Amino acid sequence: MIIEPRYAPLFEPLKIGPVTAPNRFYQVPHCTGMGHALPRTLAAMRGVKAEGGWGVVCTEYCSIHPSSDDHPFPFASLWDDGDIANLAAMADAVHAHGALAGLELWHGGSYVGNLATRLPSIGVRSMPAREDPIQSQRMDRADIRRFRQWHRQAALRARDAGFDIIYVYATHGYLVSEFLSRSLNDRHDDYGGSLANRMRLYRELLEETRDAVGDRCAVATRFSVTGHGDEHLGGEEAEEVIGTLGQLPDLWDIVVDDYEEEMGSSRFVREAALESRVRRVRELTGSPVVSVGRFTSPDTMLRQLRSGVLDLVGAARPSIADPFLPTKIREGRTEDIRECIGCNICYAHNYRGSALRCTQNPTMGEEWRSGWHPERVPAGRGTVLVVGAGPAGLEAATILGKRGLTVTLAEATDAPGGRVTRESRLPGLAEWARVRDYRTGQLSRLDNVSVYLGNRLTAADVLEFTADHVLLATGSRWRRDGIGRSHVNPLATLQGVVLTPDDIMDGAQPQGAVTVFDDDHYYMGPVIALLLARGGAQVCYVTSEGCAGAWSAYTAEQYRTQRQLLEAGVDIVVNHTVDAYAQDAVTLGCVYTGRTRVHAAGSLVLVTSRQPDDALYRELAGTEDDAAPSRFIRIGDCLQPAIIAAAVYSGHKVARELGGTLNAAPGARDRVQIGPHLY
Ligand code: ADP
Ligand code: SF4
Repeated sequence: MIIEPRYAPLFEPLKIGPVTAPNRFYQVPHCTGMGHALPRTLAAMRGVKAEGGWGVVCTEYCSIHPSSDDHPFPFASLWDDGDIANLAAMADAVHAHGALAGLELWHGGSYVGNLATRLPSIGVRSMPAREDPIQSQRMDRADIRRFRQWHRQAALRARDAGFDIIYVYATHGYLVSEFLSRSLNDRHDDYGGSLANRMRLYRELLEETRDAVGDRCAVATRFSVTGHGDEHLGGEEAEEVIGTLGQLPDLWDIVVDDYEEEMGSSRFVREAALESRVRRVRELTGSPVVSVGRFTSPDTMLRQLRSGVLDLVGAARPSIADPFLPTKIREGRTEDIRECIGCNICYAHNYRGSALRCTQNPTMGEEWRSGWHPERVPAGRGTVLVVGAGPAGLEAATILGKRGLTVTLAEATDAPGGRVTRESRLPGLAEWARVRDYRTGQLSRLDNVSVYLGNRLTAADVLEFTADHVLLATGSRWRRDGIGRSHVNPLATLQGVVLTPDDIMDGAQPQGAVTVFDDDHYYMGPVIALLLARGGAQVCYVTSEGCAGAWSAYTAEQYRTQRQLLEAGVDIVVNHTVDAYAQDAVTLGCVYTGRTRVHAAGSLVLVTSRQPDDALYRELAGTEDDAAPSRFIRIGDCLQPAIIAAAVYSGHKVARELGGTLNAAPGARDRVQIGPHLY
């Protein structure tokens, strides 16, 4: 039943070629770090999204042939009939909840290195792979014929695996985009030259996919409305492609040419940012249009449908953060939506070759191996004291409360949220406060959880408190001594104004020209440098890495991070460490040669590493080297300083397991096994 009538249009079915989507919630293809390597994990994760109300649930990029091997990234594959069973498990899991299953056929062209298969990669011309010192082989006409055959066979396998929507993938720099490019495509035959020729392969794939499976499956295509950059395919040409192909695809899945915008983190890109570009597509084609925008607000989704921008609301990250987002809208429980914070930690872990995880949704990727469900927790009994209301403590208290335990949550400061409350005040990080807001919202409706703010507990307080378990979620602090990746011992010379990110977040004002030393390599160093520069300070950002915020390459933020610092007037020094600070000058050391130079600095901000704030736990343990009695349990940064996602996961895991085996290894081990595949 739809409780909120104004959202009814979001729940209307839509015909897509020969199939019908039950509603307008469409999980577009997105990477998972699972792919061919973790088939059960993948099937269960996609199935939970269908259970949560997503009307269409798609795969990640699915390679059609061994000449498109993106190793070490775990892509999906349909290379032969042996791949069908694993993908059928996903389609079945999605169908079990009445949703449609979509599959994105993919050939990487020159982009891939084929590190596993060692086949030559193929491309419209010979050019370097994205990361490896390998060039592709130029395709001749026989290669093009073979490629079309592989694509057709993979489409048939996708159909046999039970998929309802099958994609022709024509963007993101992969093989079809190469053919569309006026610069890369230097062919003299009817696949090169004019736009009509350059799009010939694209058209053939659409026609042949329709011919192969179009009686049973919808044919979708992923394409960029802004083209692929003027030297490849300009915006006007891209619109011409869409207009010319029109209704040949049953569905247009629209992206834009700037991947850091399409995958934009909340630091740089707002919700619904693609709207003005995507708006044009419906006028150009009679087929339905889907696109993304990190949509979490049902009103924004509704506006996109009503104003004719989209027919289907596309989402990858919002469906990861909350697989039950559609159900919550349908049931009028929008306050229960676990909104994506746009941190791109999900994307980063695929990029690291590991299974998807999410800052907001700790059950993501744990559906199969741990049996975790995003909305259901096992009932439990008992009393728990949680010390610290950062992400770990808030998550633990929420889950314990939902399990039915009696929970007391004590927080030293006057505000919940710990690091997310502090960090969300830094430039660009406002949306991170959603980690706090979702949990405080849930806690406010749990009568069995009492929250006490402004209560810094001592060991005596804790020992006096009667509780079966005490969870210590006291967090961590940034180090002031320089220890980090580059220095294993404290810096011998640190004389002058030496600050940490905690000091800056507490409002400390550096003096004179500031040097920010980033040995952490993620967002904190650049964000602190930006804050200070915007405050009018002359800032020199020094990093032991080769670029600013190097790890944020995994979150698709590095390029914009560096550009933002340069535009703010920050001086960037890479591949150097800060080795000493005295007499208003830092000594910088080259990481390659060890050569030093001196740089004037009225203040130094050290962003090196963090120290667990575990003094309370240590007091309860009695010694530095022994564990405390087992009823005292550390969670989050107090146990292991890490990303926010790790703190939330840690709090969730202990809260779920309390009363059973704590720190249990993940329940089941997924792997590709010899013999018949059983799901
Ligand atoms: P995490 O990321 O692990 O949740 P945070 O640093 O974000 O850690 O949060 C830790 C929280 O614990 C902070 O809000 C801090 O004020 C609180 N805290 C630390 N020590 C105590 C204590 N002794 N009593 C109550 N709260 C504490
Ligand atoms: Fe959103 Fe971050 Fe979760 Fe990705 S990891 S879905 S960006 S909250």
